[in-house]
Amino acid sequence: MDPKEEMVAVIREKYGLESPKVLSAMLEVPRHRFTPLKYQAFAYQDRPIPIGHGQTMSQPYTVAFMTHLLGLKGEEKVLEIGTGSGYQAAILARLAKQVYTIEIIKSLAQAAKKRLASLGFTNVHVKQGSGEFGWPEKAPFDAILITAGIDDKVPQALFSQLRKGGVLVAPIGPGYDKVMTKFIKTRNGKLKKQEYGIFHFVPFIKN
Ligand code: SAH
Repeated sequence: MDPKEEMVAVIREKYGLESPKVLSAMLEVPRHRFTPLKYQAFAYQDRPIPIGHGQTMSQPYTVAFMTHLLGLKGEEKVLEIGTGSGYQAAILARLAKQVYTIEIIKSLAQAAKKRLASLGFTNVHVKQGSGEFGWPEKAPFDAILITAGIDDKVPQALFSQLRKGGVLVAPIGPGYDKVMTKFIKTRNGKLKKQEYGIFHFVPFIKN
């Protein structure tokens, strides 16, 4: 069996996530190309993978679930904070129109940019810098995904750069346990919050 099919079977059977569009994107994107050489054997396993600089790429189920919460239809402009390997950005690129992604660690940002270009992802734009300030020149975004763990509050700049009707997903909470949280910005600009289970993330780095 293709290892991608085994990975998707685990997401469906062990975690019960049925999200046809997200799972078909995961069948298309070669996760091993985002995985460091020494961890190739783990590329499609149900676990996070170290990518250097103390950072990790999230386990496949976490990627699938966060992407599912965004509810992308195909026409969106999405902002991701925490490019890391670029794998999550590649999944978003299959499901949205344009993906803007920001990574604070320079060498990770550069490597992800090269990797995504060599795999032919022309609709992903990588910037090095702190995601705290968002990407004002490209705002507003239909969806925002934060892939590092927030201790306290989502930076206000990110909510301001979210379009009315848009969705922001982030893992939030003090300490190791983060609550997967989805905010919907209503038509009158208010934020509606929904919470989904505990996940573990590397910390969001503040400048
Ligand atoms: N989405 C990534 C996983 C990222 S792990 C992937 O698919 O591989 C979280 C990433 O967020 C790390 O690479 C970390 O360096 C980055 N990060 C942490 N704080 C940040 C900040 N303030 N702005 C931008 N990136 C940040």
